[in-house]
Amino acid sequence: MNILDMTLQRSFPTVMVPRNEPVAEMQSAGERLLIAENGVFLEIRRSWISLVRQVAQFLVPTAVPYGRMVESTKLHFDRVPPDLIGQFAAMARMAHPNETGAWILWSPTTLAFRLAPVGILSHDGDSLDYEPPAVLGDELLVVDCHSHGRHPAGFSPKDDKDDRHDVKMALVVGNCDRAKPSIAARLCAKGIFEETERVPMAWYEAVWAAESV
Ligand SMILES: [Zn+2]
Repeated sequence: MNILDMTLQRSFPTVMVPRNEPVAEMQSAGERLLIAENGVFLEIRRSWISLVRQVAQFLVPTAVPYGRMVESTKLHFDRVPPDLIGQFAAMARMAHPNETGAWILWSPTTLAFRLAPVGILSHDGDSLDYEPPAVLGDELLVVDCHSHGRHPAGFSPKDDKDDRHDVKMALVVGNCDRAKPSIAARLCAKGIFEETERVPMAWYEAVWAAESV
């Protein structure tokens, strides 16, 4: 095979799920497709998260002699510290009516989290143009935070476009002029968006407490 396709396929392989033993773990960060008896699954591995999601079903009831897969999510840390969510909410209040943004970064070696504001190129009440914050050592983006000024929290078509290649959590803080701002959160995984209907209560508490920060 030509070198270009060999490189592409090595970077994003397809694996047949064995029937009589678990599928071998991914050895490093990346993505792969798993072909199982019950459909096609995307597996993503990062230092902070491992997840498997079904991305396709077979259109006909043909016999596929492979094992079955189930969707799974594994976070490699306990939780994102709510005080960093609160710090971002305080930033969002300060910036409103303009939008602002920050990344919550996590280091797999030090296990430390920190909030790093993005470099704002331009912003107003409806948009934010920014450059990513400087990342130190092996830090990874875990939560991509932005605010919606006076508008409610939620994910716009532009947010969908911006997030479709990433593996991260996304957080939006809206209604920043109110005593209790609104928040929306979702998991973004290479075009899969899963909005969490139940944002952790600790995040709400941190956002609502941010008024006094
Ligand atoms: Zn947005």
